[in-house]
Amino acid sequence: MTYETLELLIDGEWTEGTSDIREDVINPATGEVLGVLPHASTADLDRALAAAERGFKAWSSQSAYARQQVMEKAAQIMEARKAAIAETCTKEMGKPLNESLIEMDFVIGQTRWCGEEGKRAYGRMIPPRIAAHRQLVLREPVGPSCAFVAWNFPGTNVIRKIAHALGAGCSLIIKPSEETPGTAIAIARAFHEAGVPAGALQVVFGVPAEVSKHLIASPVTRKLSFTGSTAVGKLLQKMAAETLMRTTMELGGHAPVMVFDDADIGAAAKAIAGFKFRNAGQVCISPTRFLVQNKVYGDFVDAFIAEAKAVNVGNGMDEGVTMGPLIAERRVDAMDGFIADAKSSGGSVVLGGERMGNQGHFFEPTVLTDVPKSARIMNEEPFGPVAPIGRFDDLNDGLEEANRLEVGLAAYAFTTDGNTADQLTNHINAGMLGINTPMISLPETPFGGVDESGFGSEGGIEGLEAYQRTRFVVEKR
Ligand code: NAD
Repeated sequence: MTYETLELLIDGEWTEGTSDIREDVINPATGEVLGVLPHASTADLDRALAAAERGFKAWSSQSAYARQQVMEKAAQIMEARKAAIAETCTKEMGKPLNESLIEMDFVIGQTRWCGEEGKRAYGRMIPPRIAAHRQLVLREPVGPSCAFVAWNFPGTNVIRKIAHALGAGCSLIIKPSEETPGTAIAIARAFHEAGVPAGALQVVFGVPAEVSKHLIASPVTRKLSFTGSTAVGKLLQKMAAETLMRTTMELGGHAPVMVFDDADIGAAAKAIAGFKFRNAGQVCISPTRFLVQNKVYGDFVDAFIAEAKAVNVGNGMDEGVTMGPLIAERRVDAMDGFIADAKSSGGSVVLGGERMGNQGHFFEPTVLTDVPKSARIMNEEPFGPVAPIGRFDDLNDGLEEANRLEVGLAAYAFTTDGNTADQLTNHINAGMLGINTPMISLPETPFGGVDESGFGSEGGIEGLEAYQRTRFVVEKR
């Protein structure tokens, strides 16, 4: 059976740590125990913090060119192990193997992009007011960093922290999700073997609230990056205030999809249904509030249902499966709760609505109609394969609903009208907008939200800047 050996990486060594606490890692499709994960003790965390300081000095004192060579080697190692790491990802998270392979392409691509971009941490010279002065602006790595990430993209969430931190010259202690540790460990092994110095990249696990409290409170860590829910993000942000560390918060969303009556309805339904049921809807940028202009409402609902019926639910390791299980039983309960609430608010279940089978955490692709704005699913992130489809009258009406919530991560629209596209581009309240395409996440483009979806971006030059600080130097000559 291909699955990763579960260990901690502390000060350049793979170790089981000094704690007696262990937890099982479960395959969400079968319920089988894949491995036993060791937790880090407080002493292990302290060792990691001390090593992070040394690792930072060792890594940041190398040239960006030397760092890029190490990151390129890590990318090559991951390329050679892509099939095995993808299998680990599917077994622990549930997504179809093909999605895990695509995720690994992203992981490798982000590693290469950040390694290269690290070479371009240009400062600048500012013309002085006094001729004898020379004015320099330097960009330098912010220091030892810590990161905590969710389970839904065991590769992508992790590499977005590792590649940007290392690309900028920082050291990083990362606590991936305890539910999906194997992919993170496999990625860290590649960096370790490629020659990242001891302490520059470390991986720990434990009780999330305890690990984060310890690492964030330490004066060693100067940057915190979190991917997870808005509620936990707010908690960590408060702790970070104690040492005024920099933060990047990649939090929850509730993405609206606006389908205008001038859109190609068949193409829109195909593109957005595929995206809705990707990773069983457990995606922070998953399309969530479907808003369809009145004239094409019936056509879109029919086309969307046809696409949803074609989704093949099963074990992600099986050939032809296009949607796997939910990560755990708590997510099945969450879907039941959203659907019961939508029904009692007057909504109709027009497809699915039930769990599937008696093993694993499978749930039917589900379509709801006539769900009022007051229903929970129209306000709270469902993070599952449930699509409520509502209506709007005109651009203003649609935009008002799209911008109604406090979160603003992703938004999507389908239209062939240039003016509509312009209005959305200028007035949508979201960090990312996909017009006629859901492809809003690439290594070279900034990924991040606004308002209660957090702040700071990963990807693109913004992702590296998040791990850099500025120094201004004036010299009288
Ligand atoms: P969660 O916030 O409860 O947990 C997310 C991760 O953080 C988990 O791995 C958990 O172990 C860890 N965590 C929980 N409490 C913690 C604490 N006190 N300190 C440190 N780490 C802690 O969220 P969840 O429901 O498990 O994950 C889904 C959420 O993540 C959704 O809201 C989703 O939108 C969000 N998410 C956001 C992005 C993004 O880039 N914006 C990407 C993926 C997921």
